[in-house]
Amino acid sequence: MENLKKNMVVQTVIEDMGNDGEGIGRADGMALFIKDAVIGDRVEAKIMKAKKHYAYARLERVLQPSPYRVEPPCPVARPCGGCQLQMLDYRQQLAYKQRKVENALRRIGGLEQVKVHPILGMEHPYRYRNKAQFPIGRDREGKLTAGFYAGRTHSIIPCGDCLLGDEGNQEILSRILRHMEEYEIPPYDERDGSGLVRHVLLRKGFATGQWMVCLVVNGREFPGAEALCERLQEIPGMTSITLNVNEGHTNVILGEELLTLWGQDFITDSIGDISYQISPLSFYQVNPAQTRKLYETALSYAGLTGGETVWDLYCGIGTISLFLAKKARKVYGVEIVPQAIENAKKNAAMNGISNAEFFVGKAEEVLPSYCAQGKHREGMDAGRNAGAGQAAADGGAGEARADVIVVDPPRKGCAQSLLDTIIEMAPERVVYVSCDPATLARDLKYLCAGGYEVREVQPVDMFGQTVHVETVVLMSRVKD
Ligand code: SAH
Repeated sequence: MENLKKNMVVQTVIEDMGNDGEGIGRADGMALFIKDAVIGDRVEAKIMKAKKHYAYARLERVLQPSPYRVEPPCPVARPCGGCQLQMLDYRQQLAYKQRKVENALRRIGGLEQVKVHPILGMEHPYRYRNKAQFPIGRDREGKLTAGFYAGRTHSIIPCGDCLLGDEGNQEILSRILRHMEEYEIPPYDERDGSGLVRHVLLRKGFATGQWMVCLVVNGREFPGAEALCERLQEIPGMTSITLNVNEGHTNVILGEELLTLWGQDFITDSIGDISYQISPLSFYQVNPAQTRKLYETALSYAGLTGGETVWDLYCGIGTISLFLAKKARKVYGVEIVPQAIENAKKNAAMNGISNAEFFVGKAEEVLPSYCAQGKHREGMDAGRNAGAGQAAADGGAGEARADVIVVDPPRKGCAQSLLDTIIEMAPERVVYVSCDPATLARDLKYLCAGGYEVREVQPVDMFGQTVHVETVVLMSRVKD
């Protein structure tokens, strides 16, 4: 048998798709990873890099297109890379995500028996994002533009109208670019750290129509700011125009400091019957229609009857916390970004919710420290407070006990020390909201070893056209 070598051209049928959306075929008993090929395609591909048991190949030609292959509606779908699945029929995208969750639970979590509910798909898988971050730079001709970096270069491919985002983005961007031209404001150049404007962050409250514009700048001032604000105010719904100061030599988009140029430093949006104030620095789910389904699933999994103490870890602006607070006795939220906690507190007040309390800090530090303090209080209160389950006094600090713990961590998942604290606190139910099936499976496995079992697994598609998938899991404590 001839081994595959670089530059060889082979034919194969794509039988599966990998975690990053790449097609997977076989040749000579080896797995071939082929970007831009979709499941069901028969393709010709050129070997770029051959390893012992697998090889990376470049798609040369689609010999016979898959019945699931569709024409990507976005003209820059391939160079952009933000959408990995535009050429795959949406129903197949959902099937792919379903498999992704099932495989992770089985292979990483060792959870062979767990049944995964059918993924909740989107009704309209385009134009769903309420947030966009456009880098500002120059195109090949040196003209000011907003778009995205072309792979491994510093020139920007113009694209002010991402099809996942709102149609209004483009008009706002073009007003900002026109202003920059008139005032000769240079874009930031990451090679030498010169120039001013790095990114434009746009967010729209889909329920309220309010617009947020946040200019991320390498400085503290914006030439002709007043004139720009006047221009932007003409856009219906304009509510918040801010400067975000980011003078660091970094590819992190936002800096920590926010200066208000016009209006408020937040916008308001609502999900279900709860309204939220959102700062440019706060995390807010990007797909409100699906977020509602996600939160409703989390709420039903929490199984609240009105008497429960709930901890909502990684709470952001308190979105899930406030959803839960209406049905619980008390909710505690923990979040690392101070501005998000400021929003969360205001959001509770704005919605007339008085049984939610919020703490700034790392979940893996705040929770263990309350747990330790609570135990201390429990000891002191033992004589006075005979009622079981009410042991920890509630004097402004969190309680060391929980009936339900909700976690919604970033992609890297929960710190192991946090999982240990959860196991120690032994809530009846843990609701895990995850944006990464691999770290989810890892953490579920750990909690299972600590006395929990997986009851429900519900994937939700929050990110149509991309490989990302959100999952809500209910775990309950195994009775001993
Ligand atoms: N539950 C919220 C936010 C989820 S996103 C919602 O649905 O809107 C994850 C959040 O975790 C972000 O707000 C991020 O700032 C926060 N975060 C990241 N690391 C953290 C940590 N170690 N402890 C607490 N919060 C953290």
